[in-house]
Amino acid sequence: MSTEPAEKSATTTAEQHVFEADVARLLHMMVHSVYSDKDVFLRELVSNAADACEKLRYEAITTPGLLAEDPDPRIRLLLDAEQRQLIVEDNGIGMSRGELVEALGTIARSGTRAFMEKIEASKAQEEGANGGAQLIGQFGVGFYSCFMVADRVDVATRRAGEAQAWMWSSDGKGSYSISELDAASAPARGTRITLHLMEEAKDYTSRHQVERIVKQQSGHVPVPISLIEKPG
Ligand code: ADP
Ligand code: MG
Repeated sequence: MSTEPAEKSATTTAEQHVFEADVARLLHMMVHSVYSDKDVFLRELVSNAADACEKLRYEAITTPGLLAEDPDPRIRLLLDAEQRQLIVEDNGIGMSRGELVEALGTIARSGTRAFMEKIEASKAQEEGANGGAQLIGQFGVGFYSCFMVADRVDVATRRAGEAQAWMWSSDGKGSYSISELDAASAPARGTRITLHLMEEAKDYTSRHQVERIVKQQSGHVPVPISLIEKPG
């Protein structure tokens, strides 16, 4: 992948990285999408959170210490209308720095490339917005779909069993930064994804709305999901 030289600021060790070309292409599509059904981003984030809990459960079979004092998997959705933020938090496996760069900087999935080819073909045929929405629904496009509703996404994560936590941050416009996260600001284990919602996506801080989507799209998820509203 293409990585620019580290750009160190005085107070943090934030490094700027350029997205792999295919990711930049996909993000451009997401950001400029006019698809009506943006709700799918939540399904994707919840499914990643559940996958992370499942990966931890699996690794803990051989390394029970990874569960520490927090053995029960959980997913939390925190709604903050005042700050216009939706936070998706899990106590799953988390990501090391290397995993973070690999998972959220490149496209590992062959399905995503197929998706992009289809969506570009459907655009060419002027199927327009609905064709795209259907395709997003079919393929699911994973993590990057959150840039349909957020103009900045922060991912705070700590891999099970590791001391160091990391912050990944991007506005979806071609690059992302990675910096060390101090223990106090990081989840004890797992991942916290903060979506800074676009003005037109502020309804995703509404309990009613989020509850409806979770019921509709994530009913089968085997990890308990709780909804917490930040008092405004
Ligand atoms: P997929 O889930 O099909 O692999 P995604 O785009 O949804 O594709 O996610 C890409 C990768 O990012 C995942 O495979 C995983 O390695 C990592 N990832 C995303 N969200 C989380 C999370 N909450 N916890 C741990 N890893 C995650
Ligand atoms: Mg996924």
